[in-house]
Amino acid sequence: MTDTDQDASPRTTTFTVHDPGTGEPLAEHPVDGPAEVARAMDRARSAATGWAALSAKRRRDHLLSWKRKLASSLDEVAESVAAETGKPRADAELEVVLTLEHLAWAARNAGRVLGRRGVRAGLLAANQRATVVHRPLGVVGVIGPWNYPVYTPMGSIGYALAAGNGVVFKPSERTPGTGVLLSRLFDAAVPEHAGLFCTVTGPASTGEALVRSGVDKVAFTGSPGTARKVMALCAGSLTPFLAECGGKDATVVTADADLDAAADAIVWGAMSNAGQTCAGVERVYAVREVHSALCDRIAERAAALHVGADPSTVYGPMTLPEQAGVVRRHVEGALAAGARALVGGSASLSGPYIAPVVLADVDEDAPAMTEETFGPTVVVNSVADVDEAVRRANDSPYALGAAVFCGDRRAGAALAARLRAGAVSVNSVLGFAAVPALPFGGSGDSGFGRIHGAEGLRAFTAPQSVTVQRFAPPVNLTSFTTTATARARAVALARWLHQRR
Ligand code: NAD
Repeated sequence: MTDTDQDASPRTTTFTVHDPGTGEPLAEHPVDGPAEVARAMDRARSAATGWAALSAKRRRDHLLSWKRKLASSLDEVAESVAAETGKPRADAELEVVLTLEHLAWAARNAGRVLGRRGVRAGLLAANQRATVVHRPLGVVGVIGPWNYPVYTPMGSIGYALAAGNGVVFKPSERTPGTGVLLSRLFDAAVPEHAGLFCTVTGPASTGEALVRSGVDKVAFTGSPGTARKVMALCAGSLTPFLAECGGKDATVVTADADLDAAADAIVWGAMSNAGQTCAGVERVYAVREVHSALCDRIAERAAALHVGADPSTVYGPMTLPEQAGVVRRHVEGALAAGARALVGGSASLSGPYIAPVVLADVDEDAPAMTEETFGPTVVVNSVADVDEAVRRANDSPYALGAAVFCGDRRAGAALAARLRAGAVSVNSVLGFAAVPALPFGGSGDSGFGRIHGAEGLRAFTAPQSVTVQRFAPPVNLTSFTTTATARARAVALARWLHQRR
């Protein structure tokens, strides 16, 4: 919970957050249980009543105040992100900047997207004025991951608040300090609605307590395995659920692509944040004619990356020490099955800092091709043509993001349309992440539902449909006093019209 509440109730149980690079302890945080979560829920729910009653314009003004507060606290927020995740400070700053863009968009567009609008009433109800309005759900429970501890959960938090809800946020147990800081800055920027956005801290049990606390929707970001468990909990109370899970994103490179630009973007998309990006580049399918030239360019760039603990590093340690074991299993499994290591290999995998690994000719059934690796590795496989590239890219249990590199922009967009992915960028990687108006989310093991954009606002609302009768209908179809003759005439007229159109 927020600092004020933590002061009010001393706790006995805490957990320690460690620096991912050194393993040194960073801070202690309370393990919030059902009682603390219930208090956070109460605070958020009572604040949400007044928040929902505000005009969209007032909510926009408050959220823009919070955005300004976050912008002026950018150093503090980025410092917290960098300390808890181990990512370089510049990456943490970029994460906050992207979040500011999204928060501004959600604040400015919620009124337009969600406000009451008229719809055509149709022939049978021509005497009605029909409107629909998107109303807030109440309090949204947000459960977040550690890899982008500001940008990712704020895709739910900012949009849920803009839609008129309260929020209780359970950040990852790796990044609780950043979660607490976000709600503290909200209270400081919008004191008259303090408590609308509360943070609770702790491990899985805190997340479970949040799901059981009577929230009106759960917005979850994390692995598909955890999503299944949380969804099963939601099923008990029919609590709506949104799942943003992992990815195994593919990039398709055509024969006429700018190979230097493709290699540059692929290396960044695969290695930035030590590869711990849900929509990072994990698989590349290059057509045979350019495969070798692309491999050379990717290998040259990846081998030149500087990785380590000093400030000039391009990415940091694995945030989650256990993830290094997954990366090892994938790389060693691929090599044992005959893959070629173009850069790095088993020797890259010692300690929390993993050096870049570029593999080619990896068996399509190897875990490196079928499971999320979430490390600074990339596979570049050769395909006969774009049809095979599309088939292989789509042959995955995941369907989150994808990228296409193609000399002809229109052909690239046509190729994008053939990919099974929730978001595709042509001639860039992760181009969609910086566009707040674009919805983001996946299908299959990547989850379902959307954050960001108009869909991301509507995700935290329930539509209410209203008809207002303007005048009595010529034939009243909802009255027992209407004669059988009048009713039959109305049916005959409708039948005649529908047969013609
Ligand atoms: P995770 O599934 O281990 O944990 C996610 C969150 O769920 C954490 O806060 C955790 O404490 C909580 N949790 C765990 N068990 C729970 C339970 N039984 N009930 C309630 N809450 C529970 O995932 P992670 O390791 O934190 O994050 C990495 C994963 O997130 C990767 O798969 C990555 O691809 C994915 N991710 C997806 C997106 C996206 O937008 N699609 C964005 C970022 C990360």
